[in-house]
Amino acid sequence: MASASSPTDKDSATKPSNFLRQVIERDLEQGTYAPRRWAGHPADAAEHRKGQPDPARIRTRFPPEPNGYLHVGHAKSICLNFGLAQDYQGICHLRFDDTNPEKEEQEYVDSIKDAVRWLGYSWDAGSTSHLYQASDYFDFMYRAAEYLIEAGKAYVDEQTPDQMRVNRGDFGRPGVDSPYRSRSIDENLQRFREMRDGKLADGSAVLRARIDMASPNINMRDPTIYRIKHAEHHNTGNKWCIYPMYTFAHPIEDALENITHSICTLEFEDQRPFYDWLLDRLGEGGLINLPRPHQYEFARLNLTYVITSKRKLRQLVDQGHVTGWDDPRMPTIVGLRRRGYTPESLRLFADRIGVSKADSWIDYSTLEIALRDDLDPKAARAMAVLDPVKLVITNWDEVMGAGHLEPCAAPVHPHDPARGRREFKFGRELWIERSDYEETPPKGFFRLFPGNKVRMKFGYVVECTGATRDASGAIVEVQAKVLPDTKSGTPGADAVKVKGNISWVGVADGVKAEVRLYDRLFAVPQPGAGEKDFLEELNPSSLTVVTAYVEPSLATAKADEKFQFERHGYFVADRKDHSAGDGNAVFNRVTGLKDSFGK
Ligand code: ATP
Ligand code: MG
Repeated sequence: MASASSPTDKDSATKPSNFLRQVIERDLEQGTYAPRRWAGHPADAAEHRKGQPDPARIRTRFPPEPNGYLHVGHAKSICLNFGLAQDYQGICHLRFDDTNPEKEEQEYVDSIKDAVRWLGYSWDAGSTSHLYQASDYFDFMYRAAEYLIEAGKAYVDEQTPDQMRVNRGDFGRPGVDSPYRSRSIDENLQRFREMRDGKLADGSAVLRARIDMASPNINMRDPTIYRIKHAEHHNTGNKWCIYPMYTFAHPIEDALENITHSICTLEFEDQRPFYDWLLDRLGEGGLINLPRPHQYEFARLNLTYVITSKRKLRQLVDQGHVTGWDDPRMPTIVGLRRRGYTPESLRLFADRIGVSKADSWIDYSTLEIALRDDLDPKAARAMAVLDPVKLVITNWDEVMGAGHLEPCAAPVHPHDPARGRREFKFGRELWIERSDYEETPPKGFFRLFPGNKVRMKFGYVVECTGATRDASGAIVEVQAKVLPDTKSGTPGADAVKVKGNISWVGVADGVKAEVRLYDRLFAVPQPGAGEKDFLEELNPSSLTVVTAYVEPSLATAKADEKFQFERHGYFVADRKDHSAGDGNAVFNRVTGLKDSFGK
């Protein structure tokens, strides 16, 4: 990958170690996976055995269910899985976990592929695309189920769901064997085939692994591995009316794909014994390639003020609390992208938070700091006035000539002179921030008040003379007099000392823009925690829209282009609604200049 946005590939040795890196490094040192062969595509043991030595030193995978848009938690998992593969000359697969015969929406599949690519990763290695869908493995899964039956390791249970629940026991009480547990292999095989052939109704029977009804781990008490569901599948149509359970399907998917390190979130820790049991049985039976994959769990990302549940995010969209999955307040990858987050900032964030085995909450500011660290050296500077009021230079025509516009300039980036200068004009009328004028200045206020001199940034020093108010007392105009010979960058400009430096936009050449000031979507750090309904914890002022004036260099801003508006923070031209030009420009506030979040 050589694209500009591809990960920086810091030498893996310079990245902080963590338990996953230690496991991988140990496996590489010991050559654990060195003997593996690879058929060139996912396959069973026999086919892989005929292949070449696996060219990937490790294989990881990112296995989303295509049932929604990915969020910042998924971004962590993507960066982790693709990042580890990259650092250790491995390959990461993108696998759609579509074993549920629910309607898969192409929209989600496409958005997931986009998200992974946008983050800077690729599932292509050489000429091979490692994009897979779990439903392609249904035939093998069925074969694995029959193998377990034949090995005496699975049986068809026809208890009612209620009986099954009761007989499973609980933490303090061992389970009770099902009366169907001692069926003969032949009877099980016949009954399972009847399930497959559509002879049994939904819910009337399941296939269970025969393990240990007294196991202290409830997941090992003969877990269900196949259920009947007369439903059409987007990939296999009506071929199947029985579908594998996730806990059965997932280890098999990993094994067929030669995954070495199967990384998942902590809630699957209790499933690991079954993962191991199943793959050990299939290994003994010669069905899957060896050495088999192993599962490792890490703590999922919890981010303050953010919801990372697809179900709840969907609720926000469906009930119109946001404008869509890509609303800039959403923690979805499409939302973050539209808000102005960059792939680099999300990768930096993922690197900084690292991985651990203990659940914790990451402060939202960690994400914003990563973003600022990425944008600061890149974003062009610009002046913008978000709450505009006119400043009239009453002696301008007299001193400078009627209608005169004085060209001024400022660096595109203060630390990078090579990027050139932006130009704008100083004239009789300027837009300033309403808050930059006070009739009676509070202590420490150095901006405009009657009698005070300030520098209009990159322009002249002016002396404030007063302001005009409307009938309601609101300021409609501020007045000042220009001090000639004080233009920034001209000899003697510094002769007049001032304490205030005011940003401004010329009325003559300023560009009118809609600016969307986003704030956190939720008002509390852990929305939905405790008794509260998360919807009652929405921040009522998460969006304020203002009509602003921005300097003329922004007239040609392209959608998605990021800027630092001096004093105000980072802004991005909205991907969807912005088009260059007066009145059509739309900017989103990405984040403020400093960490003010939650304060
Ligand atoms: P949700 O509960 O929001 O629907 P999910 O885990 O069901 O999320 P999947 O599509 O199954 O969504 O997830 C794909 C991968 O992303 C899984 O490996 C999962 O562990 C990982 N993942 C999901 N949420 C997080 C998170 N908050 N932090 C880290 N990884 C996550
Ligand atoms: Mg899931």
